[in-house]
Amino acid sequence: MGRRVGLLALQGAIGPHARAVDALGCEPVEVRTPDQLATVDSLIVPGGESTTISKLLDTSGLADPLAERLAGGMPVLGTCAGMIVLAADVLDGRPDQRSFAAIDITVRRNAFGRQVDSFEVDLDVETLDGPFHAVFIRAPFVESVDPAVEVLASVDGHPVLCRQGATLVSAFHPELTGDLRIHQMFLAGTADQPA
Ligand code: GLN
Repeated sequence: MGRRVGLLALQGAIGPHARAVDALGCEPVEVRTPDQLATVDSLIVPGGESTTISKLLDTSGLADPLAERLAGGMPVLGTCAGMIVLAADVLDGRPDQRSFAAIDITVRRNAFGRQVDSFEVDLDVETLDGPFHAVFIRAPFVESVDPAVEVLASVDGHPVLCRQGATLVSAFHPELTGDLRIHQMFLAGTADQPA
């Protein structure tokens, strides 16, 4: 395939995402600057801390070029903090926190954390055969979705995996378990992009 998959590398752990991308036959490319962003066909926004990622997007000069690429339909996968960064609306965020509206969902930060900080669960995921073992770490969940958004998995009635067009977001960390099916789902959705 050889498609160049960007990994937003401002903050948070990208190593496991890079290994998943590589294992699926694509080229992982670290993105820290607008020039690097211009070279990739798609992007993964990893977990970490969404307030910090938002701040670093501004200081790195990436915020505007990222908004432009997203408006142009660049496929993007956001996991945990990445889901928050890509959401249309954020609850319990910091007032100055930016989100990029790549998917019409309202996300609540640290939503499970009010009950329990981190947990793992076997998720039933639409379109996948067999459960996906999902790791949640101070995770958000989705409070509300536009009808155009597909909800692919939920925990206790709260959506945790959603897709709209070329945007896929998960409240959990699909890169941590060695199960490549979420990355595969994302990369399958990028197949019609120019190489
Ligand atoms: N709680 C973090 C945030 O608000 C997300 C945690 C994570 O990415 N594991 O950004």
